[in-house]
Amino acid sequence: MLVRFWGTRGSLPVAQRAEAIQAKIVRALLAAEGRRFPDEAAAAAFAEGTLDFATYGAYGGATSCVEIEGGDGAFLVCDLGSGLREFGLDAARRCAAGHPAVYHLFLSHMHWDHIMGFPFFGPAFDPGATIVIHSGHADAEEALRRQQDEISFPVPFDWLKATFEFIVHPVAEPFEAAGVTVTLIQQHHSHDSYGFHFARGGRSVIYSTDSEHKLDNMESEAAFEAFFADADLVICDTMYSLGDTVSLKQDWGHSSNIVAVDLCHAAGAKRLALFHHEPTYSDADIQRMHAETVRYEELVRAAPPVLEVICAYDGLEVAI
Ligand SMILES: [Zn+2]
Ligand SMILES: [Zn+2]
Repeated sequence: MLVRFWGTRGSLPVAQRAEAIQAKIVRALLAAEGRRFPDEAAAAAFAEGTLDFATYGAYGGATSCVEIEGGDGAFLVCDLGSGLREFGLDAARRCAAGHPAVYHLFLSHMHWDHIMGFPFFGPAFDPGATIVIHSGHADAEEALRRQQDEISFPVPFDWLKATFEFIVHPVAEPFEAAGVTVTLIQQHHSHDSYGFHFARGGRSVIYSTDSEHKLDNMESEAAFEAFFADADLVICDTMYSLGDTVSLKQDWGHSSNIVAVDLCHAAGAKRLALFHHEPTYSDADIQRMHAETVRYEELVRAAPPVLEVICAYDGLEVAI
């Protein structure tokens, strides 16, 4: 399987302001220490090899949308955040090259940041496309239709040309989607959210966002340990630091990098992707949080194997 991140920001899309880009340029010029480069390729090689990610790259600002490649003849996509627009453009190119226009969309919940990309999803206008929306919520269809009511959007849902199917799944009952086995878990979040477990050929990926973990509710945590067990990759809501989640932002429905590491350790997961980044965090803030999470994982690791901690960004691809 291959996991491709199209949107990794939480709550609200974010665009880089000029000050942020100027600060990156200044840091890059300082790092170059007066070097001269014969051409752009040489300068790019220096930048890529020398500069940190927050200077040379960017975590991106599209909201939740993650593609899991590895289904038979169909696209598999978690959440319909603003990253879905870019995915739709890319999918159309792949369909033009012969990929079937069949889409399995897995909806964690219907908060705005997880559905706002749908009105801009090009394949929804393709009469040859089949779009299956999998959810744990009985009101998923209502949420998508309401988002395109005239008061909010000029194109009503009924104008879409694709063939739609909405399927509501019970938790803990595995089902097949394009050859991938999928299982839901209910998560603690306003109006509930659902995590998804994807498994195929002995490999597994967990998509678990907008999920608050209560450290004093051991029964619920045991259920997540079992759900994450031996996963090759856990994509986890790590919006806040632990300090924030236990003080300022308790009951806001999100989790921390620390809790995510603890759960992954307990579950024997192999890789953790930090996800659903706080919109007010700069690239430097997210990079710092990533480094702190890697250090925390080293400190609390009881024994090998190592839990590899990666930080999701728009455009990241992870082979499983
Ligand atoms: Zn969210
Ligand atoms: Zn939410």
